[in-house]
Amino acid sequence: MAGNGTALVIGAGIGGITTSLFLAERGYKVDVYEKNIAAGGRCGQIVRDGHRFDLGATMILMPEVYRDVLRSLGLTMDEMNLRPLDDIYTLWFDDGSRLAFTTDAKRMEQQLESIEPGSFARAKDYVRTGYDLYTVAFKKLLGRNFTRFFEFFNLGNALLLVKLKTYLNHYRYTARFFRSEHLRMAFTFQNIYVGQNPFTAPALFSMIPAAELTEGSMFPEGGMYAIAAKLMERAMAKGVRFHFSAPVKEIRVEGRKATGVVFSDGSEAKADVIIANADLPYVYRELLPPGRKARRINRMKYSCSALVLHWGLDKQYPQLGQHSTFLSDNYREGLDRIFRNKSMGDDPCFYIHAPVRTDPTAAPEGYDTLSVAVGVGHLDQKHPQDWKRLTEKARNAVFRKLRKAGMDDIESHIRFEIVTTPGNWEEALNVTNGSVFGSLGHNIFQMGYFRPHNRDNRYKNLYFTGGSTHPGNGIPMVLMSARLVAERIINEQKAGQTASR
Ligand SMILES: Cc1cc2nc3c(=O)[nH]c(=O)nc-3n(C[C@H](O)[C@H](O)[C@H](O)COP(=O)(O)OP(=O)(O)OC[C@H]3O[C@@H](n4cnc5c(N)ncnc54)[C@H](O)[C@@H]3O)c2cc1C
Repeated sequence: MAGNGTALVIGAGIGGITTSLFLAERGYKVDVYEKNIAAGGRCGQIVRDGHRFDLGATMILMPEVYRDVLRSLGLTMDEMNLRPLDDIYTLWFDDGSRLAFTTDAKRMEQQLESIEPGSFARAKDYVRTGYDLYTVAFKKLLGRNFTRFFEFFNLGNALLLVKLKTYLNHYRYTARFFRSEHLRMAFTFQNIYVGQNPFTAPALFSMIPAAELTEGSMFPEGGMYAIAAKLMERAMAKGVRFHFSAPVKEIRVEGRKATGVVFSDGSEAKADVIIANADLPYVYRELLPPGRKARRINRMKYSCSALVLHWGLDKQYPQLGQHSTFLSDNYREGLDRIFRNKSMGDDPCFYIHAPVRTDPTAAPEGYDTLSVAVGVGHLDQKHPQDWKRLTEKARNAVFRKLRKAGMDDIESHIRFEIVTTPGNWEEALNVTNGSVFGSLGHNIFQMGYFRPHNRDNRYKNLYFTGGSTHPGNGIPMVLMSARLVAERIINEQKAGQTASR
């Protein structure tokens, strides 16, 4: 069927767009249906009064993965108009000190040695080991499809899980390298990128700071949405048709096949293969007939959420670089509140994105565009939260820290604010519990073969792409997910497995 089959993609996030492009390249006739008025999902944008905000993703992590996936689509990084960043980000600590994460070894040495003598050599060791883990994990765990039980459950993989340090928690592992609490925070806070708590996440995730410090970072002209737009432009050139304001309300099934979808206006569409880019737990719960699988997925662990405040300002704050993370002395207590109480600490850590630093078109001249992200718990009926009050509390905590850092008039220069709470994420994008970092968490029992697969077991032509299926959250993983599912579709459809099983 590959070569002249039809494919229908639910959702135009990075996962849906990239999958559509892979399939179109292989001759599929593809239609993408998106519930919202524009593409991008969590890599979308908001433009208001001359300010441009990246809705979710703001950092190009793991550029080698982008390079690799783009290459397999005949694209290059150059086409993304990327600007390299001297500093990957700056960390701000409560005592007023700062640490700029950079690939410049001399500057790293100077900074680390002034925090803790002897720490630079240990950091090098940490990064080397972490990058090795990253390379092995991508080759053996994240960058391949697991379609059969014994592909995952074998002695080789049991040893692999030990090698990948999945038995040890990330914070405790990092504490073996550094005595300074600042350095321990600096090398573990990145767990939040995948919605995890560093005090419980496996040490495997030391691969994130290691990849950052090895590969560096860059930022696209036009913001992160420019990446989604470029991929979409290419997909359209290959014949993919995008349909907006087209929410799917049901996936039609017959026996062991998904036959098509029904939209909320009652109209229908059919295709040979259906690929859901919409959040996987949501698809099982809302779009498919009720069943045991949906109930089992509901009981799984979910990643944390993010409260985001987008500010359009009539003044610039050059003290803030492109990416700034404020780490609080109450690090552990704050994480406890997020993961245990599904709430937020009194003195939370937060991140600020200032796109104008590399791309002046993100704000009117002389103005600034800032997005502040605060890690918070996901929606949970057992732990209901007053999000209005928490937003107020987060805003005040951010103002307090910025005032202390010399930005004492920032509050009075905010022209407007756009707030995104966990409930807004759920409503806008159908992300279960507002768990925006993959929806399903990334503990070791929810990765690899254990993570819901990119094809349904019963409906053999229903596939999944995006952060909530294998391999997981973050744009690099989502790009890989698109390639993996497209390979699987092409192989399985070619082999006629769908029809025969
Ligand atoms: C605050 C925040 C910061 C982040 N920072 C980074 C970062 O710096 N770097 C990075 O790499 N990653 C980052 N991420 C993660 C990254 O944004 C996501 O992993 C990625 O964008 C997810 O893409 P996706 O295609 O899996 O899902 P989505 O982007 O959620 O796309 C799914 C699409 O499906 C649509 N949809 C849902 N239901 C339906 C339906 N019924 N009918 C039709 N359409 C439907 C949705 O509207 C959406 O457009 C961040 C995420 C957040 C929230």
